[in-house]
Amino acid sequence: MGNETTYELKKQVKTYASADVIVIGGGPAGTAAAISASRKGKKVILLEKSAQLGGMGTLGNVSIFMPIGNVTGIYRELIAEVLEQYLPDVHDESIAPQYSPFHLRYYLNEKMKKEGVEVIYHAEFISAVREDRKIKAVIVSTREGIFAFEGKQFIDCTGDARAAIDAGIPYSTGRDEDGLTQPMTLMFMMQNTGKPVEQALPEGCYRYETKDDLPQGRHLYWERNGDGTLLVNMTRVKGNGAKIADINYAETESLRQAFSVANYLQRNGFENYVLSHIPNQVGVRETNQIHGQYTLTEMDILEGKRFADVVAQTNYEIDIHSPDGKKGTDERHVSGYDIPYRCMLTEELDNFLVAGRSISATHVAMSSMRVQPTCYALGQAAGIAASLAMDDACTISNISINALHENLREQNVVFKK
Ligand SMILES: Cc1cc2nc3c(=O)[nH]c(=O)nc-3n(C[C@H](O)[C@H](O)[C@H](O)COP(=O)(O)OP(=O)(O)OC[C@H]3O[C@@H](n4cnc5c(N)ncnc54)[C@H](O)[C@@H]3O)c2cc1C
Repeated sequence: MGNETTYELKKQVKTYASADVIVIGGGPAGTAAAISASRKGKKVILLEKSAQLGGMGTLGNVSIFMPIGNVTGIYRELIAEVLEQYLPDVHDESIAPQYSPFHLRYYLNEKMKKEGVEVIYHAEFISAVREDRKIKAVIVSTREGIFAFEGKQFIDCTGDARAAIDAGIPYSTGRDEDGLTQPMTLMFMMQNTGKPVEQALPEGCYRYETKDDLPQGRHLYWERNGDGTLLVNMTRVKGNGAKIADINYAETESLRQAFSVANYLQRNGFENYVLSHIPNQVGVRETNQIHGQYTLTEMDILEGKRFADVVAQTNYEIDIHSPDGKKGTDERHVSGYDIPYRCMLTEELDNFLVAGRSISATHVAMSSMRVQPTCYALGQAAGIAASLAMDDACTISNISINALHENLREQNVVFKK
């Protein structure tokens, strides 16, 4: 990377706005955190670097919710409001609805307005202003240049623990033995046109002949509820999406694979399907995990561990797409476990939480907790926790877990005993 020259950046940065709670990143965790904090009467600003909310679910076209055995809280509300036909009668059921990423994007925009959350789009977190054990403000690149956003509480929902790392929180990346993360995948959609289509294979793409030639060595796609939309999860690029060189390679290689896989499908059962949607960015499964007050482990998951400070529950499988570029996927059944509040807390900061896929968890544990419904659940708990810390004028680590649970109940979260 570059040479050894460093530059000191000294700049007076104006404050654009102040809020009670600043949420960084508008994916599943960030949107839920913003809503839950706002419902507690807090002024919330949600900073999102792209033009849309929903995170990987919209930006990366990951437009299917994996089953977690618990349809509760804000996630349940979202299902009721956008995908009513899938709403289960009880909370502890598994559903895996496929949805339109465009509809979810629209829904989340409007939902934030209704919930009184101020969203700043095209607002990319650059740096945290830390004083001792507190974050005072975050520095953000906006369409008008660089500004500070002040807050009393901060929730990092960037998926990459970007704010945590900048603030000096220890973290790790990928597998213990070699630091390799799960590979990236560009998910795309095809549409049934009802008649044979022209098969396209742009120059430089691969001509896959058999299933074994495919990047994952398998077929992985879902037909959406009879409307002729095929969601395809079949590309695979090794690398860590939080590294400049890896993401650069992945953005071009995954697109090459997307065209190649679409062409393979057109020759193998999907003769009537055109390539209808390719999202603007490759999907990133795994990058950084903070070292928090508790680290969720493979044993916790396999043993179905329960915690007094539970904030989310899931029975989603261990699901590790091979980090070393091989074709396999390690899938192992999980009966159900709790994720404790402490996985979102750092040892170092008193007004800061991390929610979503970059919580404190091992490589194997994160492969199960990373799916969207669980990230919505974690975000919802984080937003309430930040509000309680303000109400009780205490550190984020010292909030009452009873009060957290009571507030989650008030926001329609139900935990299995
Ligand atoms: C290929 C792929 C397939 C998957 N399949 C499924 C599936 O089938 N079902 C399922 O439920 N889950 C699936 N997942 C997992 C799931 O999509 C993610 O783990 C989940 O979206 C993580 O939520 P999050 O809120 O933690 O982060 P993200 O969804 O990554 O959202 C993070 C948000 O923060 C924003 N952001 C990042 N950095 C900054 C910054 N510096 N400043 C401001 N904003 C920033 C991003 O733009 C984004 O909007 C899949 C993931 C991938 C990549």
